[in-house]
Amino acid sequence: MSANEIPAPYRVGDASVTKIPEIIADFPAGKLLPGYEPAALPPHRDGSRTLGGDGGHLPLSIHSWLVRVGAMTVLVDSGVGNGKHRASTLFDRLDTPWLDRLAAAGARPDDVTHVLLTHLHTDHVGWNTVPGPDGWVPTFPNARTLMPRLGYELFTAPGGRSRPNHDMFADSVLPVVEAGLAEFVPPEGGEVLSGFTYLPTPGHSRDHMSIIFRAEGREALFAGDVLHHPVQVARPDLSSMFCEAPEEARRSRGRMLDLAAERGLTWFSSHCAGSSAGTVTRDGERFAWSFRGADAPLRSMPSPDRGRGA
Ligand SMILES: [Zn+2]
Repeated sequence: MSANEIPAPYRVGDASVTKIPEIIADFPAGKLLPGYEPAALPPHRDGSRTLGGDGGHLPLSIHSWLVRVGAMTVLVDSGVGNGKHRASTLFDRLDTPWLDRLAAAGARPDDVTHVLLTHLHTDHVGWNTVPGPDGWVPTFPNARTLMPRLGYELFTAPGGRSRPNHDMFADSVLPVVEAGLAEFVPPEGGEVLSGFTYLPTPGHSRDHMSIIFRAEGREALFAGDVLHHPVQVARPDLSSMFCEAPEEARRSRGRMLDLAAERGLTWFSSHCAGSSAGTVTRDGERFAWSFRGADAPLRSMPSPDRGRGA
């Protein structure tokens, strides 16, 4: 995918929702999802078992969602960002045309009115900042950035500096807070921005929250990292290697799958590859996932070779 090619937008009521891709990486299936058994899985309704995986690997996408509704231009999560020193070789000093893709979708940094963060992890906050003359500065100077208050408190509490990924907090979250651009979402959530309602969905991380979006009577769910791959719709008991509290993550995933199936809403995923959006239906005792929209061709997506096996 070149810089000026982006996936087609989705419609939710009078809003448009566009995926802004950053990278795709393949992960060993059994490592990503401990307990994963490919042979035991029912096929997805797109006809594949693993969505582009070769059976041994599962692809994950890292991207943001751009929502345009009324006068608002809203980003949901902000990826890894460019040029950031990270312990993970997958994320270390990326150089992607993410900002060009955002522009191709019709939004320059000055146009963004809100950035909504589902949780404070390295792959969700990175484009909050870009290099300035004296350090990292906010990328979106006109945007209010909303983040779970609990995540902020985990890093600012005594001992917070020694938490894993404090580098992410220092270079991608604090500059936004210090610029007076941050707002904090209380742990119980709520409609913190017209049409956008945060829900606590802990487990992947303690501060993790999902976001229900409503426009003209239609609903969508920005689920965040409630699940990482569609196989977890068929096997919601599987939590990822990245989840801090796997049992709690499983309960949050179950609640969101129930909600999505009951209300028929569109699920915009943080990490599912392909079109990254779908719907959830009940299939007897189980849930089933159907992709919404055309799947983006995986091979044309930018992927640092170093990502495989990370
Ligand atoms: Zn993530």
